[in-house]
Amino acid sequence: KLSHRLETVASFIPKGSKIADIGSDHAYLPCFAIEKEIASFAIAGEVVDGPYQSALNQVKASELDEKVSVRKGNGLEVISQGEVDCITIAGMGGTLIATILENGKQKLEGVNRLVLQPNVSAISIRKWLLDHGWELVAEKILEEDKKIYEVLVAERGNTRKPYSNMENELLLGPFLIKEKSDVFIKKWTQEADQWKKIYAQMKDAEQNDELKKKRSVIERKIKIVEEVLQK
Ligand code: SAM
Repeated sequence: KLSHRLETVASFIPKGSKIADIGSDHAYLPCFAIEKEIASFAIAGEVVDGPYQSALNQVKASELDEKVSVRKGNGLEVISQGEVDCITIAGMGGTLIATILENGKQKLEGVNRLVLQPNVSAISIRKWLLDHGWELVAEKILEEDKKIYEVLVAERGNTRKPYSNMENELLLGPFLIKEKSDVFIKKWTQEADQWKKIYAQMKDAEQNDELKKKRSVIERKIKIVEEVLQK
């Protein structure tokens, strides 16, 4: 059975898509998408040999060799231009996901949907999307095994459209702020508590300009979260 996290990612794949799942590890997501007839073709991309082998094994065991192509390579380099129309990248940090998109920009031609699931730093992805012609069209937040995950969905379009308060919404997510679910409140309460501890420690440390700058960044983020949670 697929995790709730990856099932949520799969739920945003348009029916009949040709997908590439980058950093696929065991290839659970592409196999699921083919078995459920969500996707008609899938690439499972992996840069590390161990996960690449486990993807090969999984696809073979599921007898999906004809529809799931397992490829070894860095980021989007495993895709030929025009081969897929939807890309999924799940289970890594937001900065890494943004770097993979940035380095593979030319492979995105012909792709019309991105489904991204950062474990941390969703803000890095929102910023990248904003700067590269991708409109955030949906977001989800979920909790599984005591961890909280965000899923970001983007399509080509008006990049500024979902935003009304850019600073707050880049950090916390325009759709997620609007929805303000229990999981969302939990996540940002925890984050703010963490920041407050760090902030207090910084106060005791010897002051220099760099530290002062870091402190003011944290202070700002705490303020944003408190403002959003109070509304
Ligand atoms: N996507 C799966 C999931 O969400 O359950 C696996 C997540 S796993 C934590 C991250 C995977 O991404 C690892 O198997 C790692 O080898 C792979 N990875 C990291 N950087 C990559 C890159 N630049 N290109 C392809 N795969 C990468």
